[in-house]
Amino acid sequence: MRTVYVNGEYLPETEAKVSIFDRGFLMADGVYEVTSVLDGKLIDFEGHATRLSRSLNELEMKNPISKADLLEVHRELVRLNGVDEGLIYLQITRGSDGDRDFVYPAEDTEPTIVMFTQNKPGLADNPAAKRGARIISIEDIRWGRRDIKTVQLLYPSMGKMMAKKAGCDDAWMVQDGFVTEGTSNNAYIVKGNRIITRALSHEILHGITRAAVLRFAKEAQMEVEERNFTIEEAKEADEAFTTSASGFVMPVVEIDGASLGDGTPGRLVPRLREIYLDEMRKSAV
Ligand code: PMP
Repeated sequence: MRTVYVNGEYLPETEAKVSIFDRGFLMADGVYEVTSVLDGKLIDFEGHATRLSRSLNELEMKNPISKADLLEVHRELVRLNGVDEGLIYLQITRGSDGDRDFVYPAEDTEPTIVMFTQNKPGLADNPAAKRGARIISIEDIRWGRRDIKTVQLLYPSMGKMMAKKAGCDDAWMVQDGFVTEGTSNNAYIVKGNRIITRALSHEILHGITRAAVLRFAKEAQMEVEERNFTIEEAKEADEAFTTSASGFVMPVVEIDGASLGDGTPGRLVPRLREIYLDEMRKSAV
């Protein structure tokens, strides 16, 4: 049984409790982060902690924990649960003042903080990364502040189900004819030595993995172009991929039934995945 963290306490998962009036439960009024663990160490903890503060600020929500304590709790959960490879999920909600109301609760209402681990042996050596993902495109009908990492994940979850029903692995979302991002990842296409991905805005999540991957790509003399692209352009690309904290760099080999290149993960993307994993293991804490 897992040991989880709830509001300052480490508890067996079956004893952890949150109020039915919690605004996370009633209104999806909460934010989250997912940090991966490799060799028992945290990947890019700094990036996730910084984005968490930003998400909380954007929603005028109190941050119930300092960065130093947050690191300590992450490490303690890894230790208590013996995680070698896996994920740490963190969620902070606006809490509960014991009733339901659209108006935010009183200023002194304490946020709820929950953290738990997910053991995922083989996260780095994932067979899906050797095979590559097959994706479908769907319309992006989410709200307009996707840069805030909220727990409103119903549409992304529906998107994953649409992909699954179509016999595919994931979906890329399209707004006004241009790809925004994947259901739980940022989206990229590759032409020759050039990586093309949508620029940062309120329309997409500012991926922590995205920031690191684009930095490593430039260091490896790959070209990076931040601009919109269509599904039609993506289908004609040499390679494509997604990035996320849990999937790292994931090759995409098929889009809406069209194979990219020879239908294998290609050359640039597997190299970028290797660079990313090597570099992030070095800086893990
Ligand atoms: N976009 C969306 C919609 C996501 O849900 C995620 C992962 N949570 C990402 C992008 C990738 O972000 P990160 O690299 O920080 O995991």
